[in-house]
Amino acid sequence: MTKKKERVEPTISDEERLDAVKLLAQQINNISDASIIVLTGAGLSTSCGIPDFRTPGKGLFVNGSLDKYEVKDPTSIFEIGYFKENPIPFFERMKNFIATEYKPSKTHFFIKLLQDKNKLMRLYTQNIDGLERKSGVSDELLVHCHGKLHTSHCMHCKKQFTLQYLRDQMTSESEEEVQIPKCNVCGNIVKTDVVLYGEDLPDKFGECVFQDLKKHKNCKLFIVIGTSLQVYPVALLPEYAPHGTMRVLINRDRCGGFYNIQSAIRECDVKNNHLDLYLGGADQTIDGCVELLVRELGWEDELKELMENSTLVDLNNL
Ligand SMILES: [Zn+2]
Repeated sequence: MTKKKERVEPTISDEERLDAVKLLAQQINNISDASIIVLTGAGLSTSCGIPDFRTPGKGLFVNGSLDKYEVKDPTSIFEIGYFKENPIPFFERMKNFIATEYKPSKTHFFIKLLQDKNKLMRLYTQNIDGLERKSGVSDELLVHCHGKLHTSHCMHCKKQFTLQYLRDQMTSESEEEVQIPKCNVCGNIVKTDVVLYGEDLPDKFGECVFQDLKKHKNCKLFIVIGTSLQVYPVALLPEYAPHGTMRVLINRDRCGGFYNIQSAIRECDVKNNHLDLYLGGADQTIDGCVELLVRELGWEDELKELMENSTLVDLNNL
């Protein structure tokens, strides 16, 4: 057995990063129609205090003891088959997450600003926290690839319920115990619209991918934010970007098709003529990268105004 070799990430100098930011700002400025696709993941919401699913010691998949549930793998409790048999561990794990009101980050509002400027074609998010909607991104432009927490359905009669209903149902007098939310019509279990392992992705995902990346080839900029591109089929989306599209990764580590990018700028992927940019690195946060970009775009005041004065959308309004 050999020890896995630690990968040494090539460092990005501030100068290189700034060159990439300038190119990106130029592209965003040149875009005069809704032709930017954004793909986001857990890294977008970590600055909001939302637990990542996989971070050792903190993630929902790896946190806490599983002894009492007789499961070997923590992800089992997020499988639909297991959930149908025993939904208690799922709701126990999700209890605090469901009960807490989180606020969108600067990066969420930056994406909303792209929408306000009519530059956003679509936001594909892998996050279930609803913060994109809370920041004001419209339902039409938003695809919850892995479902969402803020709506639920009865598993039997399919009645839809709000986040508040779920919260009220789950409240119990004991800190330890969790109440399973039940339908007020037929009494069956209410499940959040989060996609569990073994469930299909929402229809909207396939429909929008077809519209945005296969039928029309109008995407001029593909921005990937805060995801390690490990979950399929979502991880493949940047590969579908049309010929000549600028693709950008804003993430701590290089990943997916950006894995081998050596510097902040990689010109012309041989096959698809992409210009790939990488903003990130261990010394820079996602919000920090977006700050650099917003400064370069001259949008600082607008973003500040948006963050301070916009009313957050109530996720209970279905
Ligand atoms: Zn029901």
